[in-house]
Amino acid sequence: MRNKILAANWKMNLTQPEVQNWLQESANYHWEAVGKELRIYPSALFLQQFQHDTHVGAQNFYVQDKGAFTGEISLAQLKSIGVQSVLIGHSERREIFNEDPGMIAQKVQACVQQRMPFILCCGETLSVRNKNAHLAFICEQLCSALEHFALEQLDQLTVAYEPIWAIGSGLSADQHQITEVHLAIRALLIELFGSAGQEIPILYGGSVTPENAKEIFSCPEVAGALVGGASLDPKVFHQLWEQL
Ligand code: PEP
Repeated sequence: MRNKILAANWKMNLTQPEVQNWLQESANYHWEAVGKELRIYPSALFLQQFQHDTHVGAQNFYVQDKGAFTGEISLAQLKSIGVQSVLIGHSERREIFNEDPGMIAQKVQACVQQRMPFILCCGETLSVRNKNAHLAFICEQLCSALEHFALEQLDQLTVAYEPIWAIGSGLSADQHQITEVHLAIRALLIELFGSAGQEIPILYGGSVTPENAKEIFSCPEVAGALVGGASLDPKVFHQLWEQL
């Protein structure tokens, strides 16, 4: 049985004192559990403030190893400080920073070359869902990102389904919507990678809270969650951990 994953995406939140408070307060809670994996994706500034036994990942990186790319951080640099995974294809990077499918596919290839595990995010806008085109849209996002991805690299891949209309809106997808998409993603992964596609974890993300977590975690094929807002308070985040 694969581990369940609870991943915190802090985005561009928390200052240095706030991170220190988060770490101090989170030390009051018990985070070890068989079959569960905790991951934190803080701002790059704070990546080195975590204990070595915490899985810490980066929210972003650039595809080249080094060179004249002012303001960017490479996977080689992230690896050199012990970063264990990265996010790719988050809707905020796609929409605000214009990361197109070509860039996302390049990021996947960079991860393959550097053997860096990654969470590949996908998800539809409300207008795509209203046209009932969401399954085709999500499959296209995944297919283009994974075009040159091979079977032997599968242990690096986690998928996160994050409907854009649910991110930060307080309006989570319901069980029926989550199940429909997760089953479609599973079928696609099996089509692309054969029976090995069965093993790839698929997370849900979008307004997960302690109030809706139990329902979400009980959906078939949901292997955990990528959490924004509810990860900023360790007490609230730990309530999610307990329900995973
Ligand atoms: C996210 O941005 O990955 C996310 C899921 O955010 P929130 O939990 O705040 O909806």
